[in-house]
Amino acid sequence: MPTPGGSPPRALGEIASYHAHIYFEASERDRAARLRELIAERFLARVGSWHDKPIGPHTKAMYQVAFAIEEFPRFVPWLMLNRDGLSVLIHPNTSWPKDDHLVHALWLGTPLPIDDSMLPKEVPSRDKIEELPPPNTAPTVRP
Ligand code: ZN
Repeated sequence: MPTPGGSPPRALGEIASYHAHIYFEASERDRAARLRELIAERFLARVGSWHDKPIGPHTKAMYQVAFAIEEFPRFVPWLMLNRDGLSVLIHPNTSWPKDDHLVHALWLGTPLPIDDSMLPKEVPSRDKIEELPPPNTAPTVRP
């Protein structure tokens, strides 16, 4: 049922996976590396490459952690407690990348600019949504 004067609420099933982008200055790289190791030890996730220069819509050095919907209630609160002062963008992956990053994202720490010219409004089909790649971490430590 549509909400009065608005569009119908969107379904949770639209979310295929999540990303956490962990940003750092050159002087914060050691802390970012420590956080990266802690994540890899604790969460079933895909920890992406280091990007020491801005890439895509991201205007500061960062690395990406891709994680499944099921990890959200463990991983995101853990990041709240352990991000060590770093800015973190957490966004869903749906068919609407621009809104995923700009409207429906959450920030831990200081929000940073996002270059929205790099983001398509809509992906052409459901199978183009960024699904979770195979995790490359194997947790060995309880969070
Ligand atoms: Zn992302």
